Amino acid sequence: MTRAITILGATGSIGASTLDLIRRERDKWRVVALTANCQAVELARLAREFSAEVAVVADETCLPDLREALAGSGIAAAGGAAALVEAATRPADITVAAIVGGAGLAPTMAAIEQGRSVALANKEALVSAGDVMMAAVARHGTTLLPMDSEHNAIFQCLAGNDPAHVRSITLTASGGPFREWSAAQLAVATPEQAVRHPNWDMGAKISVDSATMFNKGLELIEAFHLFPVGLDALRIVVHPQSVVHSMVEYRDGSTLAQLGPSDMRVPIASCLAWPGRMDTPCAPLDLAALGELTFRAPDEVRFPATRLCRQAAEAGGAIPAVLNAANEVAVAAFLAGHLPFTRISVMVEELLGRYAPPAPTTLDQVIAVDAEARSHARRLLELV
Ligand code: NAD
Ligand code: MG
Repeated sequence: MTRAITILGATGSIGASTLDLIRRERDKWRVVALTANCQAVELARLAREFSAEVAVVADETCLPDLREALAGSGIAAAGGAAALVEAATRPADITVAAIVGGAGLAPTMAAIEQGRSVALANKEALVSAGDVMMAAVARHGTTLLPMDSEHNAIFQCLAGNDPAHVRSITLTASGGPFREWSAAQLAVATPEQAVRHPNWDMGAKISVDSATMFNKGLELIEAFHLFPVGLDALRIVVHPQSVVHSMVEYRDGSTLAQLGPSDMRVPIASCLAWPGRMDTPCAPLDLAALGELTFRAPDEVRFPATRLCRQAAEAGGAIPAVLNAANEVAVAAFLAGHLPFTRISVMVEELLGRYAPPAPTTLDQVIAVDAEARSHARRLLELV
């Protein structure tokens, strides 16, 4: 029996790792839709290799290139925001939500509304639309499988246990490439240095988030929605080796942790095979060779992002969406060389102090808050 899969964001880092696993058991899967922002040639190559039903580019101006690259293949080509949502609503047993940023919000929600399984990598969507998205998951009886390595670890550590017995959940953080850098060094950090992560090979945006620690902050908000144990029970610890991916402490003093190599194919495989298991080509963990695993408290003076995210989660409503939008604008500006590294969190904090819209209760309202926050953030960029 084959399972039908759709991958939103198929040309990215998570998309590639997912397709690598599918390629290894090709006969078990049927690919429904593959999507990308543009990358028409690469998307067409993947759609042909995996005999997808449809390939979709979010950026409509790339559709002619996609059509040309798919000519004669019998694979449908589509473009634009509505086509992306349409692709997400096609029947699939599991949808991998791996678009980066708020752009993934509408298609991810459309997949959730189908009431099947959604493997969620697109953390920005959950951060922005947390309440609205979790309500949709409950309403449609959707199986939401966390693909982010920390949340996947927590999901595995919670399996078979009553969440009421949880005392705390600890997210581990590598600390990013600038973990040991002084404030003076951070002030002149370049995009090239920021995207060179010591442990993980990821897309540019999440790599910068990892360097600022916004990644861990966004993950705190993500965990807040996925695992309703309350914000006070959520902790962060810096663990430079990225071997322990997170842990759950129970009321009896038992702490369960999930360990594994720092290779996203492990949590992706956990989602694809859940509640079963599947093989991955990842090197087995060799603890004796690793020798030491170390842990320390995060430094919120050099890296204020986790503090800002905790405050945003506490405030709730529209505030996490504003924080996420401000961060996306700031990261894009940093990557383009227009904003110093340490101004990313300054700019986010500044916007949070200026713009506090009412809590959104629908997806359209979340999208409106996101758009408005981005335009405020862009104006703020001109001031910093
Ligand atoms: P990436 O930049 O490598 O890939 C992003 C994908 O989204 C690409 O297919 C791209 O074409 C598509 N995309 C980009 N902008 C788009 C837009 N405006 N509209 C539609 N599609 C668009 O990113 P990634 O590293 O694969 O990360 C994807 C998501 O998974 C992010 O939310 C990230 O935080 C999360 N995540 C990634 C990792 C990792 O190891 N890479 C780990 C955990 C979570
Ligand atoms: Mg993560």
